[in-house]
Amino acid sequence: MLDSPFFAAKALHHRSYSVNDYVFHIWLYGEARPDWNKILHDFEAFTKVQLEMMHAFPVPEFHFLVLLLPFPFYHGVEHTASTVLALGPGYKLMQKEMYTDLLGVASHELFHVWNVKTLRPKDFVVYDYTRENYSRLGWVYEGFTTYYGDLFLARSGYFNTDEFFSEINQRLQRHFDNYGRYNSSVAESSFDTWLDGYVPGAPARKTSIYDEGCLIALLLDLYIRRSSDGKHALDDLFKQLYHDFAPGGKGYRESDVLRLAISYSDAGVGKILINVFIPDPVMNPCCKSYCPMPVAGSALNLHAFCRNNGLASGLL
Ligand SMILES: [Zn+2]
Repeated sequence: MLDSPFFAAKALHHRSYSVNDYVFHIWLYGEARPDWNKILHDFEAFTKVQLEMMHAFPVPEFHFLVLLLPFPFYHGVEHTASTVLALGPGYKLMQKEMYTDLLGVASHELFHVWNVKTLRPKDFVVYDYTRENYSRLGWVYEGFTTYYGDLFLARSGYFNTDEFFSEINQRLQRHFDNYGRYNSSVAESSFDTWLDGYVPGAPARKTSIYDEGCLIALLLDLYIRRSSDGKHALDDLFKQLYHDFAPGGKGYRESDVLRLAISYSDAGVGKILINVFIPDPVMNPCCKSYCPMPVAGSALNLHAFCRNNGLASGLL
């Protein structure tokens, strides 16, 4: 039963699609009127760009199990050959906001098949289900997945550039609104995820591995692209990490990510990665030394900054 969720119900909506001989099933349960043409088109599109980047999919078949609730809800959990998504209210499924939530969480959970289900931090290689399993690497397994989940929606054409940066801006705004960034680094916050990672905990105590990790992934991507004159990107770092540590379930350490980051850029990448380990506003040192955008109100300027530096087009 481990890692094997299933639906058993009288009325299930079901469709499937194939990409590169891998089969993907979408199962919907609940009150909803799905526009299957649109859903299949958009799911296939983000699946294609994920496979274009990663080439092989770790399992032959994958199942999206979507539970549509009658009240507002948003949740997703990754498994190796499936994901369970709970969203609501079901009657709003095809409305822009909820439909974007569906695609966003589905794309995120699909990328988890690579990033955490097969490429795992060393701390999770032997996973002890009888107790907590601590790791400081949430900024990689959740942060990178959050960044890529939305980036794949942009690469597949669902988000235009403005919409993609609007998602980034929301995370940047949450970063500025969370004074926990002065108290805990994202690595420390990752270690503490077991305490109150998924619910509002003590106010201003810690940061979010999703938001901060996503912003670090963005900064890393921009830094690698700029320092390598566009020859490399975060894609290369992640694929190398996957290639080196996923086969045989070896598991990676913080030092492996840092070493690869330097190898695809230069030692200057340390001024971004230092933000992983010190409790300080993630963007501030970057604003001063690398991203020269004003701190106050910078969320709205990020897209303009990237565009003016020729970075947005390469990113997408
Ligand atoms: Zn996740």
